Amino acid sequence: RQAQYAALRDTPCVTLDGVKIDLHLNAGLLVDLPHIPETGAAGIGLFRTELQFMIASTFPRISEQLKLYRAVLDAAGARPVTFRTLDIGGDKVLPYMRAVEEENPALGWRAIRLGLDRPGLLRSQVRALLRAGAGRELRIMFPMVAAAGEFDQARAILERELTHLRRHGHGLPERVFVGAMVEVPSLLFQLDEILSRVDFLSVGSNDLVQFLFAADRGNVRVADRFDPLSPPALRAFRMVVEAGGRHGKPVTLCGELASRPLEAVALAALGYRALSLSPAAIGPVKATLLKLDVGAARQILLPLIDDMSGLSDVRATLRAFADLS
Ligand code: PEP
Ligand code: MG
Repeated sequence: RQAQYAALRDTPCVTLDGVKIDLHLNAGLLVDLPHIPETGAAGIGLFRTELQFMIASTFPRISEQLKLYRAVLDAAGARPVTFRTLDIGGDKVLPYMRAVEEENPALGWRAIRLGLDRPGLLRSQVRALLRAGAGRELRIMFPMVAAAGEFDQARAILERELTHLRRHGHGLPERVFVGAMVEVPSLLFQLDEILSRVDFLSVGSNDLVQFLFAADRGNVRVADRFDPLSPPALRAFRMVVEAGGRHGKPVTLCGELASRPLEAVALAALGYRALSLSPAAIGPVKATLLKLDVGAARQILLPLIDDMSGLSDVRATLRAFADLS
């Protein structure tokens, strides 16, 4: 199997009925970079910048951040990289940062919330990203956005840094694409507001599913109770990709969900044309998509999602259709 996947490295990911689905990588450290040539990924769809901070013993200086971001962009070459700004707090603690006791860390002071309340950290990170992207295209997205106004605030920080760098004669990126992650359910009900602001959206299905079903993603007792291939979750994923289509803005999905072949089939059938997955999953997912008739999968899937009986077994039906055991 491994050899079969390796042989697919340079094969474009196009389904039987001619639909191109870009497979990107999830990454976060220098050691992940060789996976780009190994897997033939279309780019890095999610670069988790907090990993550098989590393995350090003190706050990485701007110069250290800049060095990492440049190395990532150099390794990716012409392939796009989407950097996610710091997603710390909650369960992602920094040993050198004073921990805040919270009863519900997943619902707490984390990610963009912390970034906006302590803007020094976000500012310096954005500055490092903008400098690393000098002369190239740069993609930045903000995690855990729960309200359109939070995106405005984060974007204002970015604009301020751009102005600052320009005034000081630094080289700037040719273009900066700014996006938001959809991982808090409140954003599902502000899709028009957020889409009129962003250049792209990326669904963080790990958190979105956890919050939709109120089921801790790290708690094995409840993690398997809820199926992301059930109508409520699939309706949510569909809402995002369809709203993106109406606004002419790209929507990708970068949670672990996309790393599972059957789930990737469902996402393609819903209309996703770019997914970001773990390196080891690129081969199996690509092998599955190459054999898929997306149009036919969609015809099977949509009635199941809209079935109001509350009994439709999407997983079993789709598995039988896609011939995956
Ligand atoms: C997600 O929530 O799906 C996601 C991609 O972000 P993380 O897993 O880093 O929280
Ligand atoms: Mg997340």
